[in-house]
Amino acid sequence: DTIDMTKLLNSVIDRYELVSDNDKIYFHRDIPSHTTFATVDRDKVIQVLDNILSNAIKYSPEGGEISISLKENEKDFSISVNDEGVGIPAENLPQVFDRFYRVDKARSRKLGGTGLGLAIAKQIVSAHGGSIWVSSEWNIGTRITLTLPYSAEKGGE
Ligand code: ATP
Ligand code: MG
Repeated sequence: DTIDMTKLLNSVIDRYELVSDNDKIYFHRDIPSHTTFATVDRDKVIQVLDNILSNAIKYSPEGGEISISLKENEKDFSISVNDEGVGIPAENLPQVFDRFYRVDKARSRKLGGTGLGLAIAKQIVSAHGGSIWVSSEWNIGTRITLTLPYSAEKGGE
């Protein structure tokens, strides 16, 4: 489907903003006000954004800020989600996109999850011909960035 990414991204953030009031998580948006058309699988892109945003919230402290940006490049667009959460130690960064991988089992068990969110996100982004990567600093925060071509529809997998 051809969709407006600006609108889609805003609507996903709106949904999390509504339920994050209690945790005092603040959202900062750097998203164009004009439409950004993209031909992608809408439901799958929502799933990717859900996984990334739910992580950002889950691993953020009370009062943390989450910054989301949408940048239009020549052939693709990029979305990045930056949080001020616990971060990921450098030695664990290469594994976070692996299925069932979770950093620090003790900490993660308390927060819940199966370790599939980022693996699924990576699979969907790759199927669209895009890429996704992470940069993070322990105790400082985490940034997930993904790029997607404007026209990426491959049909369902
Ligand atoms: P699920 O997404 O299946 O509910 P999960 O969140 O543990 O479980 P992933 O989303 O795949 O699994 O993330 C893998 C691991 O990477 C997490 O367990 C966590 O240790 C680390 N991680 C992911 N995102 C962040 C983040 N924003 N800040 C800190 N650690 C993160
Ligand atoms: Mg997750």
